[in-house]
Amino acid sequence: MTAERTARKLIAVGSGKGGVGKSTLTANLAIALARVGRKVGLVDADIYGPSQPMILGNQGQKPVAREEKLEPVPSKYGVPVLSMGHLVEPGRAIAWRGPMAGGALTQLVDAHWGDTELLLVDLPPGTGDVQLTMLQKFKPAGAVLVSTPQDLALIDAARAGQLFDQAGVPVVGLVENMAGYACPHCGEVSDPFGKGGVEEAAGRLELPFLGRIPLDLAIREGGDSGTPPAATDDPLAQPFHDIAAKLDV
Ligand code: ADP
Repeated sequence: MTAERTARKLIAVGSGKGGVGKSTLTANLAIALARVGRKVGLVDADIYGPSQPMILGNQGQKPVAREEKLEPVPSKYGVPVLSMGHLVEPGRAIAWRGPMAGGALTQLVDAHWGDTELLLVDLPPGTGDVQLTMLQKFKPAGAVLVSTPQDLALIDAARAGQLFDQAGVPVVGLVENMAGYACPHCGEVSDPFGKGGVEEAAGRLELPFLGRIPLDLAIREGGDSGTPPAATDDPLAQPFHDIAAKLDV
């Protein structure tokens, strides 16, 4: 490991289960940090279901290799990224056993990250091989956990938290996603997945609560079209900027 690598901070973004908005949060957080001048890069460690090329709008670009290491792929938001989605054809299933997935992850992290000082790592959901490789081999400086307010997602996030604890990686905060839905027709706010559960859990687990992100169609559309809200002047950018500001890394 070079001195340059040692100086770089890895922050893992994890969740107990899939579909809770981990990739969405990681991309928007990276953009928010880049907008305040941080040199931030993103590793999409969701080897089996990479979504960052779509979210960051650089799908179809291929990383080049130099001296047997990959060059991160630039995105228009000032956040370079490496993802399995840049290496395989879109939509192609990746059926690898743990060691191969671990090897792929190593290539993504151990790349030419240059002067990137902060590397956000979008982990796969759950507590499997790739997560273990990540924690044991690269020892992130901290982990952010995201969950919906639903109980099941919360219980799973607590389990993911234990994984980090065991590996000696401090959980630097919890984020509640999909909290509060404003009806686009009448404006009434409802809470399809409940509300406040993650903040309560953070209190119980004595972990910092970083903030909540509403359930909003524009967040989904922004992710699908490669224009994440944090990169826009939409009011929906604010929760991501607030979370980035609270993230003490
Ligand atoms: P994960 O990485 O946890 O699997 P994703 O970030 O891929 O989750 O999100 C799953 C889906 O939910 C995506 O289609 C994404 O655009 C959408 N989504 C995530 N967060 C929100 C939100 N706050 N409001 C609306 N849609 C969201």
